Amino acid sequence: MHHEENANLLETMRHSASHVMAEAVLSMFPDAKFGIGPATKDGFYYDFELPRSLTPDDLGIIEKKMKESIKAKAAFIKEDISKEDALRLFESQPYKIDLINDLEDETISIYKQGSFTDLCRGPHMDTTKGIRAFKLLSIAGAYWRGDENRPMLQRIYGTAFESKDDLNEYLRKLEEIEARDHRKLTKQLDLISFHEEAGAGLAYWHPKGGRMRVLIEDYWRKLHYDGGYEIVFTPHIGRAHLWETSGHLDFYKDGMYSPMDIDGQDYYVKPMNCPFHIMIYKTKLRSYRELPLRWAELGTVYRYERSGTLHGLLRVRGFTQDDAHIICKPDQIDDEILRVLDFSLNMLRGFGFEKFKVELSVRDPRTPDKYAGSDSMWQQSEASLVKALESRDLPYERMEGEAVFYGPKIDTKIKDALGRSWQCSTIQFDFNLPERFDMSYIGEDGKEHRPYMVHRALLGSLERFFGVLVEHYAGAFPVWLAPVQAVVIPIADRHVEYAQQVANDLRKDDIRVETDDSNERMNHKIREAQIAKVPYMLIVGDAEVGENTVSIRLRNGENLKGQSLEVFKDRIKSVIISKTTSM
Ligand SMILES: [Zn+2]
Ligand SMILES: [Zn+2]
Repeated sequence: MHHEENANLLETMRHSASHVMAEAVLSMFPDAKFGIGPATKDGFYYDFELPRSLTPDDLGIIEKKMKESIKAKAAFIKEDISKEDALRLFESQPYKIDLINDLEDETISIYKQGSFTDLCRGPHMDTTKGIRAFKLLSIAGAYWRGDENRPMLQRIYGTAFESKDDLNEYLRKLEEIEARDHRKLTKQLDLISFHEEAGAGLAYWHPKGGRMRVLIEDYWRKLHYDGGYEIVFTPHIGRAHLWETSGHLDFYKDGMYSPMDIDGQDYYVKPMNCPFHIMIYKTKLRSYRELPLRWAELGTVYRYERSGTLHGLLRVRGFTQDDAHIICKPDQIDDEILRVLDFSLNMLRGFGFEKFKVELSVRDPRTPDKYAGSDSMWQQSEASLVKALESRDLPYERMEGEAVFYGPKIDTKIKDALGRSWQCSTIQFDFNLPERFDMSYIGEDGKEHRPYMVHRALLGSLERFFGVLVEHYAGAFPVWLAPVQAVVIPIADRHVEYAQQVANDLRKDDIRVETDDSNERMNHKIREAQIAKVPYMLIVGDAEVGENTVSIRLRNGENLKGQSLEVFKDRIKSVIISKTTSM
């Protein structure tokens, strides 16, 4: 209860702050046109049409004016007026007129504070003094009503808290988020790039990023073979006929790119791998003895995303799904679902994620006609998902009516080092495709039966998962994933030969090692290695050459005494094998 009151107070304070900000903007730009200024989860914003683009310097000026308004302790005064009066009052404000015209009420409430009057339902603080601690954060463009065919307005984001301490804590967290931004870190660490001139939303994996991707894929493949999966490869394009059969051209066309013509036939780049796996299934008559089949593919797919929504590796137009399809008999689904749930958590734990948030999406029982598949199929499959979650004591949120039309699913989000949740794994039943492709197997009774089909992706997409990894570890990857695991740093030229010997020796044990034989001073080399987040720096000078040892400096700044190379090798090898995050 207390928590909720707090939340409401914060929301009211933040919304009130948006009015105060609008007042300040109006005093800078008397011709400003106002959009809307709501509170958000973390703060507030207000949208404006202004005679010029705002600069970061403007935020300081606006903040100063806001402080004056807050000091003046102006009351928020509510007034109810007729729609007609409201239209007159806001006649020079086209966006407000737009909003008023959409209101059905005949009486409209307005709020005044100081020299500013706004169309608003409230509530607000009693006076501007109620805004305890605030900060303006950023400027962005935002289409009026989120519609790209309408004018682009300038949005100012800010936040407000009950105390300076709360505000400072929030600002510290924002700084941390910014420092971990994968778009910045992948560039700094030379892992990934994007090229607008070569096509937006398409990731390029540099050698070091590629090294990591291979490690991720190798680990993924090993777990899949160990887990009873087979790995398949399928084409990147498929004839229109395939997408007509699958139904994608009916219900997913907006997500697909225009077709290309091959010998007078339309071919589409694949947005999903499923129909291809079904083609393999249908190459022969299947017996119940073959089931369950578990087929996995690192399948690269292309999906249309609006350019405004593209965001580094988190939202791209081409990505590689770690996809798999489980095709089984109805009486196998309980086992298969439990197995794939365990498998998914095991995989994510391998990357160092320990906290999960699980959502179960089921159908809306009030509209059974909306869904593919029979009543009993839905009941059985939903029950198998629940059973699996409960037998592993996984807390989950049940989302009634959130299932897609073709089946219920489990979504698993991982929680990162900052407590943020990222959607990764999906375990999704499909009652649609087996029907559309007329999939069947011969049962024990010698008759044809329809198999169950489950789609699942565990990491989601390699691109997105990589972005999450970068942010979770702030680029300081566990040793098994680090593109360069150790760098040997000779103190002077005369130590270069020994440094190279050390590096060669480590390489024989598959340790990814570099030698920094540049002419820079040792401290500079250490700093470079630190920036590159290399886990181990092996420093070699006269003492080390003489004693046949290495001095070890860890990425976190810790120094270890000279050790023989054999001791270091044992240490790094056990760290790599255990996939631990410690060093
Ligand atoms: Zn308001
Ligand atoms: Zn699929």
